[in-house]
Amino acid sequence: MYECVALGELLIDFTPAGISSNGNLLFERNPGGAPANVAVCLANLGRKTALISKVGNDEFGHYLRDVLIKHNVSIAGLVSDTENKTTLAFVHLTKEGERSFSFYRKPGADSTLHPEEVMEEVLRTKLFHFGSLSLTNDPARSATWLALRTARKNKALVSFDPNLRLELWPSQNAAKDQIFKAMRRVDVVKVSLDELRFLTGSNDLALGSNLLMDKYGITALFVTLGAIGCYYRVGRLSGMVPGFKVRTIDSTGAGDAFFAGILYMILEEERDITRWEQSRVQDAVRFANAIGALVTTRKGAIPAMPNLSEVEGLLRDLEERDSTIY
Ligand code: ADP
Repeated sequence: MYECVALGELLIDFTPAGISSNGNLLFERNPGGAPANVAVCLANLGRKTALISKVGNDEFGHYLRDVLIKHNVSIAGLVSDTENKTTLAFVHLTKEGERSFSFYRKPGADSTLHPEEVMEEVLRTKLFHFGSLSLTNDPARSATWLALRTARKNKALVSFDPNLRLELWPSQNAAKDQIFKAMRRVDVVKVSLDELRFLTGSNDLALGSNLLMDKYGITALFVTLGAIGCYYRVGRLSGMVPGFKVRTIDSTGAGDAFFAGILYMILEEERDITRWEQSRVQDAVRFANAIGALVTTRKGAIPAMPNLSEVEGLLRDLEERDSTIY
């Protein structure tokens, strides 16, 4: 029995890494994919995790498999694709420091995961986590819905991160259709402010989050706000937990680390999240904020994921310095 099983993309993020002596832009081979980041972070925190995904039978695929093994994430559900190559995503930075992505995925191995390749025994888990990249097209879409149904049958709590990448969808409406379909079937959701705006048409935290909770029957919703922290709604409770002031160098993976922090706290606490007192919810969000903040002080996503003593150390240091933003 696993504590958390994540399903979705495992890919290479090629991130800008300076200029070569010939004057050409250099890219660094980073292991990535949001569900993989969550699985690795939870494994680093000491939880028994697995990833259900598909990579190519190529150098990149072999490398990604080794990364999961190194981080103690089970590869029992990792499939190797003999036809399609491992998915690649190139990250470009604009002059303003904004990130844009070019995906090499037509198709990439991750999107070709077939329902028949989803192993039922890997879905014996307390938590099942997924995002929207595996919903962009079949067969991965059908594989995701099948895995979700199986996890539910096994009484797993389900978490979902829309992780919107519009360039991978044929239209905005296609993205909304699948994301809303997912939201009707999950318990815990994390969105960014941009995603909240896209999904609800509202920038207003209270209004937008209320709309999502009411309409889709979500139990707990977290709206991450970068350095500002996080707005939450858990059952009838809601509030804001400020972020930590740290020396940020790269925010890749902060959202995934944050979500892993929330899932870690859910696993720690035996009670249903709707029974938590407000102070417990605030503690959980504070813990997740600390992991998110810590990840922004290091380069990359998977290589930046901390272990439990690093997170606890940061929380202690920050308490001593009382360096919250507000
Ligand atoms: P996403 O990657 O989903 O857009 P965010 O960038 O909002 O997520 O980051 C997730 C969480 O990580 C935030 O809620 C916050 O707790 C933490 N975080 C992100 N950026 C920073 C930062 N610059 N300084 C401190 N904490 C940060």
